[in-house]
Amino acid sequence: MSEKKKIIRNTEKPIQKYRFIIQSAFTALCVWIGIEFFMFIKYLESGGEATFYNRPPGVEGFLPISSMMSLYYFFLSGEVHPAHPAGLFIFVAIVAVSLLFGKAFCSWLCPVGFLSELVGDFGEKLFKKKIHLPKILDFPLRSLKYLLLAFFIYAIFFLMTEVAIKAFLDSPYNLVSDIKMWYFFADISRFSLIVISVLFILSIVIRNFWCRYLCPYGALLGLISFLSPNKIKRNPVSCIDCGKCAKVCPSSIKVDKVLTVMSDECSSCLNCIDVCPVADTLEMKFTPAKKTINKKIIAISVVVLFIFITGLGMLTGYWHNKISKEEYIELYENIDGFGHPTSVESTKRFNEDAKNNINKSR
Ligand code: SF4
Ligand code: SF4
Repeated sequence: MSEKKKIIRNTEKPIQKYRFIIQSAFTALCVWIGIEFFMFIKYLESGGEATFYNRPPGVEGFLPISSMMSLYYFFLSGEVHPAHPAGLFIFVAIVAVSLLFGKAFCSWLCPVGFLSELVGDFGEKLFKKKIHLPKILDFPLRSLKYLLLAFFIYAIFFLMTEVAIKAFLDSPYNLVSDIKMWYFFADISRFSLIVISVLFILSIVIRNFWCRYLCPYGALLGLISFLSPNKIKRNPVSCIDCGKCAKVCPSSIKVDKVLTVMSDECSSCLNCIDVCPVADTLEMKFTPAKKTINKKIIAISVVVLFIFITGLGMLTGYWHNKISKEEYIELYENIDGFGHPTSVESTKRFNEDAKNNINKSR
């Protein structure tokens, strides 16, 4: 006869309220950046006639490809490229958070993740249940974001030389990529609107559809998360197999069946730890020392680490780019002529152009 387990109730307060506050604050910050950027665009549209508003450097957080190239350029040359320096620091901050706490950026700071979560909550209320795709669809769809990531990594790290990277970062297209991104949404094409609407509807039905299946940023952070020394661990001795942790997991991870959560989909949201009814059974642990990390420490560390690294950019003078308002007006006047170098062919052309420029300057 099996011995009945002695249960010590988990009395620790849930952290989800604080996670919601942090997500809301970060989303509000992004909205504020959006308003400032809108004012800056209005200034450009007026040809310099309207009141000048500073371009908010935080907008570069929405340029992950340029930021990744900037980081690669930093490794190759030791220099911070001046086009989007804030983007570089934001990118490093996001990677650092993921290195320490897995994909915590997605569930604690990312405004898209937050929106996706709210939409998912609405969907669950609407359908009164969680809808999961069958494994036969879920698995191949999850690999889509890795294919997108692989394309970017191949194009940047395998096809481009240091000179070509610099040529891209210096290019007018890169300098105005934030403005182009703005117009992508402000003057959205019918096709893009349909795609976004479909993604929105799919996110109501299937929680985190964009994040789970398509976000290449999430794919990168998921891979980095495997290197994190902090992992969610289950104590099988005290676990009562209630399955609450698996039920609440937004990433559909079978937390109740594993000893350590080792999944690229885990966003360190701590929902599973919050609902576990038994004390000291489900915890985030610093694995090398087998030490439990308090949930509040995780929340504070994610925010402080992000602020520290981006603050470092501000303090060292690598936050605002050096493009003057006159240069921005000139760039803006010619913006339609700056095309997107999306293809492998374009990447090769960048390499060629860069080589030609070097030859000319000799
Ligand atoms: S395993 Fe836990 S921390 Fe990870 S996503 Fe699921 S509920 Fe969140
Ligand atoms: S919530 Fe998960 S870890 Fe906690 S007791 Fe239930 S099955 Fe075990």
